[in-house]
Amino acid sequence: MIRKKLIAGNWKMNKTSADAASLAHELVVSVGAQPDVEVVICPPFTALESVAGAIDGSLIKLGAQNMHFEASGAFTGEVSAPMLRALFATHVILGHSERRTLFAETDELVNKKVLAALKNQLRPILCVGESLAERESASTLRVIQSQAERALEGVGKDQAPSVVVAYEPVWAIGTGKVATAEQAQEVHGFIRGLLTKLYGEAAAQRVRILYGGSMKPANAAELLSQKDIDGGLIGGASLEARSFVELIKAAAAAT
Ligand code: PEP
Repeated sequence: MIRKKLIAGNWKMNKTSADAASLAHELVVSVGAQPDVEVVICPPFTALESVAGAIDGSLIKLGAQNMHFEASGAFTGEVSAPMLRALFATHVILGHSERRTLFAETDELVNKKVLAALKNQLRPILCVGESLAERESASTLRVIQSQAERALEGVGKDQAPSVVVAYEPVWAIGTGKVATAEQAQEVHGFIRGLLTKLYGEAAAQRVRILYGGSMKPANAAELLSQKDIDGGLIGGASLEARSFVELIKAAAAAT
């Protein structure tokens, strides 16, 4: 097996520090020693420290949901990669569609963040995805290519395997509409091809490509059995231990 499946939970703007630590603790009890699937949880910034404490000694890893590309300075309200590293984060979600649409993040900005994350030994979970209008006008692959190529500009072949790509069709995020396994595999296969062109076959085969968008225990097995679907970025279903644990079990069964 070249790629270990990865299940990442994006808790978005949910849970206080105490609530987050309590959910993390429940996850440690159920899946903290799961060796077959890489598990990453991404609480809000304010809960990173308490969650780091709760998962200490387990195999569960810690991620943030965003960061600034500079290391420090006059950027009121922002958080940097070294600050995340100091709290034991190993991953950071970048370019999530909510950041792109609600906070006007551009491909250029996402690219700066990807480069800064890698420079600081943080693994970016780089989100790409088309809107409903783009899918309906048959622009999906063009949009994905443009987002991925621009976000990865300047990322070297040796760094590429540290990047995790998350394909998240915007129309499927938080909507209950999930891409069919065929729709998702088509885009994942396309991204793998793109990575192969950019970095060569060996590096491209090591990159994990996650699906995100209303993934739930009921639809996970089929999605996770696709050749180029290496895990999931989970929003709603990661906020409760039972559903998130079921997704991790589905990923273990699909390996
Ligand atoms: C997400 O926001 O990354 C996501 C996939 O959300 P949901 O699972 O709720 O669609």
